[in-house]
Amino acid sequence: MNTPYYLIDEKKLLRNLKIIKRVKQASGAKCVLALKCFSTWSVFGIMRKYMDGTTSSGVYEARLGYEKFGKEVHAYSVGYSRHDIRAVRRFADKIIFNSLSQLMTFAGEVRGMNVGVRVNPGFSYSHFDLADPARKFSRLGVRDINALRKVTGLIKGLMFHFNCENNDFSNFARNLDRIGREYGDILKKLEWTSLGGGLFFTQAGYPVGKFCRKLKEFSEKYGVQVYLEPGESTITGSAELVTTVLDVVHNEMDVAIVDVSTEAHMLDHLIYHTTARLVSPVPGRHEFIIAGRSCLAGDVFGRYKLNKKLKPGSIVRFGDAAGYTMVKKNWFNGMPMPAICVKRLDGTLETVRSFGYKDYVASLS
Ligand SMILES: *Cc1c(COP(=O)(O)O)cnc(C)c1O
Repeated sequence: MNTPYYLIDEKKLLRNLKIIKRVKQASGAKCVLALKCFSTWSVFGIMRKYMDGTTSSGVYEARLGYEKFGKEVHAYSVGYSRHDIRAVRRFADKIIFNSLSQLMTFAGEVRGMNVGVRVNPGFSYSHFDLADPARKFSRLGVRDINALRKVTGLIKGLMFHFNCENNDFSNFARNLDRIGREYGDILKKLEWTSLGGGLFFTQAGYPVGKFCRKLKEFSEKYGVQVYLEPGESTITGSAELVTTVLDVVHNEMDVAIVDVSTEAHMLDHLIYHTTARLVSPVPGRHEFIIAGRSCLAGDVFGRYKLNKKLKPGSIVRFGDAAGYTMVKKNWFNGMPMPAICVKRLDGTLETVRSFGYKDYVASLS
């Protein structure tokens, strides 16, 4: 098969989905997929069996959730226009506003619907300021708890998205207690609470049992249906980006250039200054920098010690290629776009989408 391509492995996806099922059963929480992390609808068939629906960050995602996933459609957006609201209310089960001004502006448009508001509790867990929902001057969610109390008659739920890559259960438990203490009186008047995404409960070693008990306890104490909005933890470890080395240049170190780029195909490594995880080759004693083929000087996947020397034609497979990759890919430098392939549960390999020059041309005019 020609590189480059993203390769989603349904068997690996299933591993996460089974943990999600266990969490749902043991805690009573519902899980909706955060489409902004992963929207590759060719594998929604398997995901739909284990999850309750989708949540979105914008109008098109909400529509995609409705058309391709089905089940519950949660529509959240940091900013709706009136046009957006009229589009989204046709297929959303829940509309979640980011601010009280948006709620008041559109209350008439969404009368009778299941409406919620996002809260910024003023605390969070994140390793990156860029992704910290409670960062200074954050625009994400309502801060004023007294103002929130005044609108409880207009809403049925609150959404708290305050974690990013949080694998620390005791931190989550403490913060959940704090939400209970500070917002419990409001929650008791409502029907549901979403605890957002960013909880790494599908990671090996996570205390899933304790997590479930905590969620159940919270749900019972405040009489709310709890929702989780897992993005990364739904798909973590389920895809690779498969690439070929095109050239090896030397400038103090050997630098292998592959047929993809960070900026266009794995953008978050560039944004967060992280190193891509290599699946193959495996570690050894040959030191290489692996870099992309865009014109950006800092288009670097990482510096590795490998068990074999890379040369033109060598295959390089990057791991963790499902989340925040395909949804962010772009046509920078007019580079050929990686295809999307799926390894189905029965082992068959399917190329579900390939892109060509026509797609590039069609993305501009
Ligand atoms: C980003 C986001 C999620 C998903 O986050 P992950 O870290 O991918 O789990 C869920 N809910 C909201 C509101 C988000 O902004």
